[in-house]
Amino acid sequence: MNRMSKLDLSLCLLVPFALCAGTSASVAQAPPPPDHPSITVKGQTYTPRSILARNMGTPVDQTTQFPPHKIIGNIYYVGTKTLSSFLIVTPQGNILIDTTYERNAQTIEKSVTDLGFKFSDIKIILGNHAHGDHQEGDALVKQMTGAQVMAMAEDVPALQAMKPGGKEHPIDKVLHDGEAVMLGGTTLVAHLTPGHTPGCTTWTTTAEEGGKTYNVMFGCSLRPPAVLTPALVDQFNRAFKTVRALPCDVQLGDHGAQYNMQEKYAKLKDGNPNPFIDPASCTLEADVQEAMFHAVLAEQQAARP
Ligand SMILES: [Zn+2]
Repeated sequence: MNRMSKLDLSLCLLVPFALCAGTSASVAQAPPPPDHPSITVKGQTYTPRSILARNMGTPVDQTTQFPPHKIIGNIYYVGTKTLSSFLIVTPQGNILIDTTYERNAQTIEKSVTDLGFKFSDIKIILGNHAHGDHQEGDALVKQMTGAQVMAMAEDVPALQAMKPGGKEHPIDKVLHDGEAVMLGGTTLVAHLTPGHTPGCTTWTTTAEEGGKTYNVMFGCSLRPPAVLTPALVDQFNRAFKTVRALPCDVQLGDHGAQYNMQEKYAKLKDGNPNPFIDPASCTLEADVQEAMFHAVLAEQQAARP
């Protein structure tokens, strides 16, 4: 664990933005990632810089409430314009995936309340990965709700180092790859999809709509850093393989841009087919990030003497 923390830290110092964007350090203060290599997937061109800009939006986007909405079945969006937070409602209490930045806790509470649910009914807090823009708020939301925080083992060291205002990061239960979290008839399965962080977790569940059952995937970031070590190459290869094998009808992500949330939300109207049921787009984010991963690797290998 210590070795991993030291490695993380030294890589952070080496390439602060690429690996450490989204930690407690303000993204605005970090230098932007490089604008190369560039890749094109389905007619759209991306660079590391454009992907990060797409994910994060402006500082105002990161803290502005996005209209909370039902995605499918018992799954709701309660995040900001660019930072996802999902509420899963069950008869025995609710599950929150991603608290985002600590300063967003009241915004998420407002979204939960606007939907007609009680913030204090959140019993379990889960996360996608140990970066501040997804899990910095865990301690405060636990204080506000009394919920249990559960985290993938491989991300525990990074979470323990995340201490907004000096608060210890709560970890009530350590999870392992393939483990299920159950509450009130809902089962969420944690899949280890490492690389972006060592414990990056893709969550899967099912949801019912119109008498049918749909596979829902809460994707973890697959965004590669600027420098790929052999260990990271192994992790990303594992993650891409895992993600592509998961059953999926509804793909979600830790940033709305990863699943075109804003465009899909605009199509949410009574009588229309649910725009979030979109199996054809399930691997789009993996396609983009895997292409970028190979481009970064090729650039890195070409630069080697
Ligand atoms: Zn991240």
